[in-house]
Formats: sequence, structure tokens, C-alpha cells
Amino acid sequence: MNDEQLLRYSRHILLDPIGIEGQARIVGAHVLIVGAGGLGSPAAFYLASAGIGKITLADSDTVDLTNLQRQILHTQDRIGQAKALSGQATLARINPEVAVVPVTERLAGERLAALVAGADAVLDCCDNFDTRHAVNRACVEHRVPLISGAAVRFSGQVSVFDPRRADSPCYHCLFPEGEDVEEMRCAVTGIFAPLTGIIGSVQAAEALKLLSGAGEPLVGRLLLLNALTMEWRSVRFGKDPHCAVCAARGNP
Ligand SMILES: [Zn+2]
Repeated sequence: MNDEQLLRYSRHILLDPIGIEGQARIVGAHVLIVGAGGLGSPAAFYLASAGIGKITLADSDTVDLTNLQRQILHTQDRIGQAKALSGQATLARINPEVAVVPVTERLAGERLAALVAGADAVLDCCDNFDTRHAVNRACVEHRVPLISGAAVRFSGQVSVFDPRRADSPCYHCLFPEGEDVEEMRCAVTGIFAPLTGIIGSVQAAEALKLLSGAGEPLVGRLLLLNALTMEWRSVRFGKDPHCAVCAARGNP
């Protein structure tokens, strides 16, 4: 790191669990953020300000007036623009040192696999189960840690899946595909604006911890927030020995 970086990131470097080595790992890291909406916005803000070297920001949507209530990467004058490009413009103003790669297509198949394989960590900030499961499969396949967040109405949840660890469950162990889970979309159900900020910020915190090596990651625990009572619950869960996604992979 150069002198300006040492100064810019000095408040991280002062923290013993991060220190200069941890911050250097953050600066050298590549993170894929799937979704530049309510969760992806705060997550991207903190990852960029904290100096992640490269952020791939993927979102196939465009900015809409109803997004601006909570999707803080975007501004009124960018309505109609691709969210990935709007996010890139915002992040460049916060920290021009971060290379932001916008991806405006819906991620699937080989493109998704290639982006996951090239990342040091993936943040799932999307709003649909198809993408969540596709991202999880790619993360298990390429052994890339996945920081998963979700928020609807006043309820939020977050967990970390680390396929580099033999004891780590995957997203599918927790939420098996094909079970009739009702997809709840913000457009229908509503969403409390700061809830997305809280959950997205927890995702950024877990990513920075994983990448720098600080603390204990949220692996094998699902953190649940009820924003109406502002109560957090932490639920432990294990690997599903019959999981269709990760059980066949065996131990690393
Ligand atoms: Zn699994």
C-alpha cells in the first residue's frame, strides 16, 4: 500500500484483528455483488469505502422511482439507467481506487460461474430464489465463500456459507430448492427502508472479516432480525448430509 492508502485506511489498520496485513488483503480482494438494490447498495458502499480492490457489481435492472426509498446507491437523476452503471458512478465518487466492473445482464450459466470463480467472496443481495440457488451452486463448485442476505417487510436474515470449510453448510442445506417457499417481492409486500441498510451492512462486515481474517464468520448460524421489535435471533444449523448441492462434493 502507498502512503495515501495507509492514511485512507488508517482507522482499519489501527484495529488489531485487521491491522496492516488484513487491510492489504482487503485491498487485494475481488468481491462479486449480485444485486445493486436495497441490500447491495449499503454493502457496496462499505466495501468500496473500506478499499476492496475490485468490485463486480451485477444487476440487470434499471433504476425506478420506487427504488429510491432504500436503494441508496442510486439518485433521482439516474431513473431509467442500469443499476450496475449507476452504482459504478456512485462508488467512483467515494473511492476512485476501487475498480468497479458493472455487469448489466442477469447472471446465470457460464457467465455466473466465471465471475464466481474469479472472486474471493460473493455477496448475494438479489431478490429471487432462482438466482440465489444458482449463485450458491457456483460458490460450492468453485469453493468461494458466500455471504447471503435477505429482507422483506420488517424481517431480515443473514448467514455466511464457506465451502472451503468441510463443516460449512451451503445455502441449499438451509433452504432446499423446490420446497414451496413463497417468493415475497418488495413490490407486493413492502419493505422497511433502513432494514435493507442494516442487513446489507452486516453482509459487508462479514465480507471484510472473511477477507481480512478478522474474527469469527457467521458460518452455521442464521441471524434473524425483527425490525418492529428490533430483536435479533441467532439460529444454529448444520450441513445437510444429503444436500443435493454440497453433499456430493465431499470434503475439501
Ligand atoms: Zn448444502
